[in-house]
Amino acid sequence: MIQGKTLDAWYASHPVIQPLVALEQVSWFNPAIAPAAVALGDVGLTLADVKDASARLLRFAPYLAKVFPQTAAAGGIIESAIQPLKTLQQALLSEAALPDSGALWLKKDNDLPISGSIKARGGIHEVLKHAEDLALQAGLITLDDNYETLASERALGFFSQYKIAVGSTGNLGLSIGIMSAMLGFQATVHMSSDARQWKKDRLRASGVTVVEYPSDYSVAVENGRLQAQNDPACYFIDDENSPHLFLGYAVAAERLARQFEVAGVLVDAEHPLFVYLPCGVGGGPGGVAFGLKLAFGDAVHCVFAEPTHSPCMLLGVYTGLHDQVSVQDFGIDNVTAADGLAVGRPSGFVGRAMQRLIDGYYTVTDEELYRLMFLAHELEGVKLEPSALAGAPGIVRVLKDAQYLQRIGVTPARLANATHLIWGTGGSMVPTEEYATYLDKGRALQTTTHR
Ligand SMILES: *Cc1c(COP(=O)(O)O)cnc(C)c1O
Repeated sequence: MIQGKTLDAWYASHPVIQPLVALEQVSWFNPAIAPAAVALGDVGLTLADVKDASARLLRFAPYLAKVFPQTAAAGGIIESAIQPLKTLQQALLSEAALPDSGALWLKKDNDLPISGSIKARGGIHEVLKHAEDLALQAGLITLDDNYETLASERALGFFSQYKIAVGSTGNLGLSIGIMSAMLGFQATVHMSSDARQWKKDRLRASGVTVVEYPSDYSVAVENGRLQAQNDPACYFIDDENSPHLFLGYAVAAERLARQFEVAGVLVDAEHPLFVYLPCGVGGGPGGVAFGLKLAFGDAVHCVFAEPTHSPCMLLGVYTGLHDQVSVQDFGIDNVTAADGLAVGRPSGFVGRAMQRLIDGYYTVTDEELYRLMFLAHELEGVKLEPSALAGAPGIVRVLKDAQYLQRIGVTPARLANATHLIWGTGGSMVPTEEYATYLDKGRALQTTTHR
């Protein structure tokens, strides 16, 4: 019994669950979405909150430029470029027997400085928010100061009285650990079994305490929460529920809007934008999608992508059970090579707040992630980790669903003008040798499955 119903009863009431449990690739476009003007009210956060986060990142920019020299050229702003993917687009559409349509782009969060993943947005923002709150309270800084002073011995000594804890499958720990340690905090990262060794090594080398668990993400998070409960000096960063993580991610949208303007990419009713976001617990894609809806309204269509072994957000929204249900409840194992996405239970906050703003969800096999990783590297020269390829099949899933396109009012003429954006969530910091073994795997899959 799952929530009072047999599996067969679930299959009858929610037919998508059957292929999901069989680990088949599925797509589900939510018929219950609502116009941005209505559904943005569900979130409990506003444009003013995103602007507040954006202004905080600006205040910290001089500090970041000073302590992370790799951000100096961008003035201490942690941002990634966009890149057209013409060749990959042709390959994906031709293997799906679809005519060429619209333009495929990549948002290169794999290249974000400091931690090489989308977590450099939310994770770093929340550490900075906590540091700023403490420093303001103690009179160490005022809002008008140059925050470079937070790189001083005095500030390091001040922050060293405080602790930060987080549970992570890898990338969030990397972002929060590196940022916390730089400021002087005592940081502990509780890591799930699927976290890669190089991420643990990297954190320990930065002076972060890494605690390893032989189990999945939820156990790591629970232990982080417990550590903080028992210690008033310890601040727990709650990946499942944090508005500060969410807002850090949301800032991406105003910057993307500027990048599109510079690149001459139009986004309006006649030029729709589809964004494909790899989803783990949901905070990253949820926050970015919130920002995108604020920036582009009904012209943007956000679609979440998950591994076939960890479709927690799809399951949560589709059943309406959100964080009351895990993929394991349905016999799905949550074991995937997409370590950033290996999450069995979705954020209750994101699923509930964003469900009327997210057009759809689809799943991808690990084999497809590796194969697409190889293709993206081969055809476009980009270095992405397997998780970050979850967005790549999105263009095909959308173009193949005529019913969905009709329902959202995207006519063939509008579709021809569409921009499809893959959110490339991580990868640049994967060690060369490890990346080479991923590529070998992807090359072998490409050779066996596609001529
Ligand atoms: C964390 C992560 C995601 C998804 O973010 P969530 O907030 O967990 O949904 C996607 N891709 C990569 C590479 C990640 O590290």
